[in-house]
Amino acid sequence: MNKTDALIIGAGPTGLFTAHQLKLIGLNCEIIDNLDKVGGQCIELYPDKPIYDIPAVPECTGEELTNNLINQLKPFDIKFHLNQRVEEVKKKDNDWLVKTNKGNTFLTPNVIIAGGVGSFEPKKFSPKECEQFEDKSLFYSIKDKKKFRGKIVSIFGGGDSALDWAIELSRDCKVNLIHRRDEFRAAKATVDKVHELVKAGKINLLTKYQMTTVNGSEKLESVEIKHDNEETKNLKTDYVLGFFGLIMQLGPIANWGLNIDKKKIEVDTEKFETNQRGIYAVGDICNYPGKLKLILSGFHEGALAARACFKLARPNDKYRFEYTTTSTNILKRLGKKD
Ligand SMILES: Cc1cc2nc3c(=O)[nH]c(=O)nc-3n(C[C@H](O)[C@H](O)[C@H](O)COP(=O)(O)OP(=O)(O)OC[C@H]3O[C@@H](n4cnc5c(N)ncnc54)[C@H](O)[C@@H]3O)c2cc1C
Repeated sequence: MNKTDALIIGAGPTGLFTAHQLKLIGLNCEIIDNLDKVGGQCIELYPDKPIYDIPAVPECTGEELTNNLINQLKPFDIKFHLNQRVEEVKKKDNDWLVKTNKGNTFLTPNVIIAGGVGSFEPKKFSPKECEQFEDKSLFYSIKDKKKFRGKIVSIFGGGDSALDWAIELSRDCKVNLIHRRDEFRAAKATVDKVHELVKAGKINLLTKYQMTTVNGSEKLESVEIKHDNEETKNLKTDYVLGFFGLIMQLGPIANWGLNIDKKKIEVDTEKFETNQRGIYAVGDICNYPGKLKLILSGFHEGALAARACFKLARPNDKYRFEYTTTSTNILKRLGKKD
C-alpha cells in the first residue's frame, strides 16, 4: 500500500504542474496515468503543434511544453505510475483508498483528479475471442519490440502508427499489414515506404479485409480475415497488433460519488474541491462558472487545490504563503540552499 499526502490522477499539463505546487509547499505526491507516457492531450494529440498562449512562453509545441514541465519537476522525487487506470476511490476512515486496474493501492487524505477529457483508451477489435489474448499476443501498443523478432506479426490499421510499426517490424519479422480500405490515413512518405516494402516482399499487404476472429488455445495460432467481397483467409500468426486510434472515456470517474454534469466535475473556485471532502478536480475535467478549457487555467486551479491539500495532510501545521524567490524553505526543497 502506497501512502502519500496527495494522489494526482492524470499526468497531463495540469497534473504535472499541480505536482510541482504540492512539492513546493512540502507535500508528497504520486501521479497515476493510464497512458504509457506523461503529457496528456499535449503529447498524445498534438506533440508537434505550436501553442501560443502559455504565459511568458511565446511559442512551444505540445512536446516542448511537456518536457519543460517534466524539467521543472526534476528537483523533486515524484513517483509516476503509468499504464494504469484508477478504477476505485473509496472512503477509509479519514483517508481515501484508491485502486488501479493493475492492483496498486494508495491511501491518501487528498485525491486530485486532473483527468482531462477522461482516460485515453485504445479502440479495440470487436471479436470477443480477442480478449483472452490481450497483453499476451494481442496488443494495442508496443512497449518492447524485441519480443516480435523472427515472428509473424499481423498488424491491423491504416494510420501512421500501423504503418510506422509495419515498416519498423519488417526489418526482422514477417509482417502482414491488414486494412479495411485501399487508402491509408498516414504521411505520404510513410505510405510510399510501405508500398516500396510490399514490392520488395518485406510486407504482405491485405486491403479491404477486416478481422473476423482469432484462433488458438493457450497460444495464438492464426487470425481470420474477411474481404469486402466475403472471401475469407486464415493467416498463421504469432502476434496481432491493432492500431485504430484512441477514444476518451470518463470511465470509472463517473462512479466515485461526485457531482458530474455533462462529463465535467463540479467544483468550488476557492479550493477546486468537489462535493466530497479531500477530492479535488482541476484542468479540463472540472467545471465552474466561467471555466476556460485552457492550460493556463489548469495551472491556476492546480496551485489552489495544492494549498487546500495542506490542511488535510498536515492538520497540526499552519500553511504560510511564501514566494519562490525569497522563501528559504522553498529554496531548500528546490535544492538551491543547504
Ligand atoms: C488539438 C488541440 C490543441 C490545443 N491547443 C491548445 C492551446 O493552444 N492552448 C491551450 O491552452 N490549450 C490547448 N488545448 C487544450 C489543452 O490541451 C487542454 O486544456 C489540456 O491538455 C488539459 O490538461 P489536463 O491536464 O487537464 O488534461 P489532459 O491533457 O487531458 O490529461 C489528462 C490525463 O489524465 C489521464 N486520465 C484520465 N482518467 C484517468 C484515470 N481514471 N486513471 C488514470 N489516468 C487517467 C489521461 O490518460 C490523460 O493523460 C488544445 C487541445 C487540443 C486537442
